[in-house]
Amino acid sequence: MNILDLVRENIKSLKPYSSARDEYKDATTDTMVFLDANENPFENGVNRYPDPQQNSVKDFLSNIKGISKENILLGNGSDEVLDLIFRAFCEPNKDNIITLPPTYGMYDVLSNINSVENKRVLLTEDFQPKVNQILEAVDKNSKILFLCSPNNPSGNSFSVEIVEELLNKFNGLVVIDEAYIDFSEQKSWLAKLANFPNLVITQTLSKAYGLAGIRLGVCYASKEIISVLNRIKPPYNVNELTQQKAIERLLKVDEVEKEVSEIINQRTLLIESLKSVSFIQNIYPTDCNFVLVKVDDATKRYNQLIAKGVVIRNRTTQPLCENCLRFTVGTATENEKLISALKSL
Ligand SMILES: *Cc1c(COP(=O)(O)O)cnc(C)c1O
Repeated sequence: MNILDLVRENIKSLKPYSSARDEYKDATTDTMVFLDANENPFENGVNRYPDPQQNSVKDFLSNIKGISKENILLGNGSDEVLDLIFRAFCEPNKDNIITLPPTYGMYDVLSNINSVENKRVLLTEDFQPKVNQILEAVDKNSKILFLCSPNNPSGNSFSVEIVEELLNKFNGLVVIDEAYIDFSEQKSWLAKLANFPNLVITQTLSKAYGLAGIRLGVCYASKEIISVLNRIKPPYNVNELTQQKAIERLLKVDEVEKEVSEIINQRTLLIESLKSVSFIQNIYPTDCNFVLVKVDDATKRYNQLIAKGVVIRNRTTQPLCENCLRFTVGTATENEKLISALKSL
């Protein structure tokens, strides 16, 4: 498979917009005078345009993850990264994508915005991909298969063998959304990036890294795929404050690790307490910072919790999630509030 054959015709011939700051990216205001970008010259920390290639942030990520910078693209949240993938590879009103509900809602939203058909192949009852049905759904216009692993909202990871089979047999891009990978026992697919030319991995600083507010999503893929995405991304898609804040956090990954292990401890305690709530019928296994449970009447329980000041997510309208609620793991105090509210119902 030649990945570049999957790219839309208009994108293949596109030249990226060359921004002023692209051209002298290693220069600093100590050695040069910048009169090229019509910026206000009075320094306030953000008067200059940000680095369009986010080199400092990528240096940190490259070190932490052991992935070369040419295999990394950053976006304004994973949501922008996913949208760039759609726009580079899916011809509107012609191509299609494959998603495996119940899953992250953004793939369907983006397919609608981009006018790209979303072929849905439900997961099994224990939330694993159905390989044969997926391969049967594929046609010559199927460009992207989205695998969310660990999966939101079910919480589980997909079997390594199943994912590997899909990577081998699907002749398009396989996007593995690893938003929750830091909470999982399972290893990231990053280690296998070089083995599969069609593998795209997305991660985010929104969950484990505690930076949902700065909007920073990360895409890892072959340098061919990354260079296509670079060609279409808005030049200054990641702002200066986001880049600074991300670097601050990436300098302290040990703090992130501490928080993640505290969240995982809290997850264990929460699951233990949920077992004694009379109307909870099933607690699904989770590799994420949330727990999906099946209750007697999800909408009733959801409204009762709201009345007690606890906001959770009602997933009952999702396929295979009838009467399911999703609880994010909070601090010890927050989780105790959830538990005592549940027990008082
Ligand atoms: C939360 C989440 C994301 C994160 O999206 P951002 O735009 O980076 O905040 C991505 N994928 C899934 C499955 C998620 O649940």
